[in-house]
Amino acid sequence: MQPNSTDTPLTFSSLSLAEPLLLAIQKMGYEQPTPVQQKSIPLILEHKDLLVSAETGSGKTAAFLLPTLDHLLTLPLQKSGTRALILAPTRELAQQIFKQCQQLIEFTDLTVGIITGGDDFRLQKNMLQRHTDVVIATPGRVLELMEQEIPNFENLEVLVLDEADRMLDMGFSEDVLNIAGHCNPLRQTLLFSATLTHFGVIKMADKVLKNHDVVALNTLHDGHRNIEQQYVVADDNDHKKKLLAWLLLNETYDKALVFTNSRLLADELRGPLRGQKLRVGVLHGEMDQKDRNRMMDLYRNGEIKVLIATDLAARGLDIRGINLVINFDVPRNGINYIHRIGRTGRIDELGLTIALVKSSEWNLISGIQRFLKQTFKRRNIKELEGKYKGPKKLKASGKAAGIKNKAPEKKPEKEKIKVRHRDQKNIGKRRAPSKDGDTQAPK
Ligand code: AMP
Repeated sequence: MQPNSTDTPLTFSSLSLAEPLLLAIQKMGYEQPTPVQQKSIPLILEHKDLLVSAETGSGKTAAFLLPTLDHLLTLPLQKSGTRALILAPTRELAQQIFKQCQQLIEFTDLTVGIITGGDDFRLQKNMLQRHTDVVIATPGRVLELMEQEIPNFENLEVLVLDEADRMLDMGFSEDVLNIAGHCNPLRQTLLFSATLTHFGVIKMADKVLKNHDVVALNTLHDGHRNIEQQYVVADDNDHKKKLLAWLLLNETYDKALVFTNSRLLADELRGPLRGQKLRVGVLHGEMDQKDRNRMMDLYRNGEIKVLIATDLAARGLDIRGINLVINFDVPRNGINYIHRIGRTGRIDELGLTIALVKSSEWNLISGIQRFLKQTFKRRNIKELEGKYKGPKKLKASGKAAGIKNKAPEKKPEKEKIKVRHRDQKNIGKRRAPSKDGDTQAPK
């Protein structure tokens, strides 16, 4: 494994992990933290909820185990019950995490147990009834034990959902939410997934994480993506309005969701789209709850096919059949972007998302692509070609090169001549005086 390729290489000791963990790391032969460990460990040590995209083989297991174990070592045990619960989709993965955890706690007094289907139920029951600090489990068996009210997650300090995308693909979504619902609401939650552009992962993140940070690390050459991402360049908002109407009239979709960055613009778009005989509704934070509920019902029932929304209003929107998301405005950052596109696609379906990008938004969308480690597909709509074709030159980062220092355009000579000509024509006519008593030239 490539241990590190980021700008500021950190060592394990500079991550200020507890001494017994550093000893274990040394014994295991880890020399330097991998990129996912470098980015995630400091944030997890700050007790932040985190959504991380990292692939198997990136060192992700130690990325969540090390700071979790550090936390358990630093804070003395206060109450009964499991302190850290790690959920994994398969027995094999649970076993790998278990082994790594055993190695990492070798020089501590911490205890770890594993709960997976197929193993002795009684032994697992005993293990949970004795105090076990860290429990690694697959969701199914945990639920069976929960039916008998055996596990105690009331005082849980850390909940980790590993390979969340796989857990969702395997149909564990409800089970995971059910288990999370029985855990201490004040816990820290870490959600690891191979991809961020998986509709279920973002919905899950909405439900289980609080004020979370995002660490995106993988290159996403994975098969989990079910959302195709495109962008169309546009001259200005008027051009965007035409593109939007065209897309809504020509794309195939069950339900479309259009995002704007402002409530005003959301309102402004509705009229012209209705004029195109599209069934459109608007959802934003200024509407009272009754109107919002009514709008969501109309959208859910299919009475309106297009919903124009702002970020805030769309948070937690969980409606089936949204398979087209259009970003009329490019969102302000990568996290908003994934929340928006997370509204589309279902586990077994494909979704399409299209961003309309004017020149002032180019750097924003290229930053989002860098953040997600993805390249969106450029799409041209022949019927509505505009003047703006994207930046002439690009920096290595994908941002537009050389816009800032562009000299202001000179006014054409012709205009001056025109003024003089009019002045001459109006000789003898009364003209409005300006403040300083002079006559005003046309602007
Ligand atoms: P994972 O992505 O967690 O499945 O880890 C893949 C492999 O990398 C496992 O065998 C780990 O023991 C190993 N590993 C994790 N972190 C490091 C590191 N910092 N240096 C070397 N190997 C590591």
